[in-house]
Amino acid sequence: MATLIDGKKIANETCEALKPRVEALKARGITPGLTVILVGANPASEIYVANKERTAGELGISGSVIRMPEDTAQAQLEDQVRALNADRSVHGILVQLPLPAHIDEDAILRLIDPEKDVDGFHAMNAGRLFQGQSALVPCTPLGVMHMLDHAGIGVEGREAVIVGRSNIVGKPMAMLLLERNATVTIAHSRTKNLAEVTRRADILVAAVGRYKFITADMVKPGAVVIDVGINRIGGKKVRGDVDFDAVEPIAGYITPVPGGVGSMTIAMLMENAVTAAERHA
Ligand code: NDP
Repeated sequence: MATLIDGKKIANETCEALKPRVEALKARGITPGLTVILVGANPASEIYVANKERTAGELGISGSVIRMPEDTAQAQLEDQVRALNADRSVHGILVQLPLPAHIDEDAILRLIDPEKDVDGFHAMNAGRLFQGQSALVPCTPLGVMHMLDHAGIGVEGREAVIVGRSNIVGKPMAMLLLERNATVTIAHSRTKNLAEVTRRADILVAAVGRYKFITADMVKPGAVVIDVGINRIGGKKVRGDVDFDAVEPIAGYITPVPGGVGSMTIAMLMENAVTAAERHA
């Protein structure tokens, strides 16, 4: 039976650990400021944004949300980002995705000041991460690293396999594990003999977006299995990429969904906002 890595608990502890850092900034007259831009009325985005605002408030971070209508023009949104770039009281800017189809998402993300890019999606931050320089790192893979550390799982010298190569999860995840001296393989939809590849993993990260994609025969006994996937099953049920019931008996450690990696994302966003404010200071 695998040891469960409890994302909720680790997220709470991570948030608690941020409080003294926020206090230290306040003692210097700086209140960390995080602004979220929400365009349109996507119900899921509304929930995420409300959670971000609430968590920021609990930590003493000044969180605000700028709501813009669905038919906002590209230029209007760009002006809004520029205004926040110039605002010295704002240390973190997050443009909630997805944006309406008529907006050029890449152009908006490129416009965010890399020093305020708390999502870590700007090419400058991706490049810094790639080169092993200090960067604002995407929240989800950063959360995974916190979970590994918290569970006392050593990374150095171990075989890590990541299934998925997106810019927001798979690739930064690979860079973070490489930075910690894991031997890293990135698998994707064109990978041949995937099960053979994943069975090599001491640390297996699933970031595919397909329910029950990782089956027991793909997992080495005793492996650390990190499930990043978020799949909505039926009505509202949220499940991961890993066939939990089949994999849990053979894995060494496993993250549940819900209550695993997803729980860490907001905590990591708060950490990035505090880090951005500290660097600004
Ligand atoms: P993407 O759709 O951008 O990437 C999915 C990746 O999975 C791609 O690299 C794709 O390969 C790979 N893939 C698809 N099918 C296969 C296959 N048959 N075999 C091997 N690889 C395959 O997704 P994201 O990275 O954005 O997200 C992945 C999952 O993580 C989603 O469920 C998402 O909801 C979740 N997520 C969870 C977060 C959290 O907070 N927990 C945050 C962000 C995402 P290829 O590149 O070849 O197409």
